[in-house]
Amino acid sequence: MDNKIIQLLNHADLRITQVRKDVLTCFLENNHALSSTDIEEALTTALDRITLYRTLKSFEEKGLIHSIVDPNNTTKYAMCEATCTEHHHHDEHIHFHCTSCGNTFCIEETIPSVHLPTGYRISNASMIVNGLCSNC
Ligand SMILES: [Zn+2]
Ligand SMILES: [Zn+2]
Ligand SMILES: [Zn+2]
Repeated sequence: MDNKIIQLLNHADLRITQVRKDVLTCFLENNHALSSTDIEEALTTALDRITLYRTLKSFEEKGLIHSIVDPNNTTKYAMCEATCTEHHHHDEHIHFHCTSCGNTFCIEETIPSVHLPTGYRISNASMIVNGLCSNC
């Protein structure tokens, strides 16, 4: 686990700190997206909100994680594909929101292309499918 984390941080060109290691561990230990509250609760050492916020922001900037706003308006974060790099995210996949446990999952399914009227341009697209996950 530790090796993988160090590899990821090196790859993202981020200095290795305990906080970054701890937060990244949370993502690797869960198969669903995490809100900042989920991470705070999962961490054994208390972390102030600003440090956590900055850590998540730097991970997002460096292409390690992407954010999802779930149907309850909660911002959640999930690990990116290895193809994501600084400022170049390729997370055009569908997210699944479980209405029973409330967890959000990344689904390996690309958002279908949308045919827009002339003059319209897409800047980004997100798609959330609601239902029950395999645990519920
Ligand atoms: Zn990404
Ligand atoms: Zn569920
Ligand atoms: Zn995702």
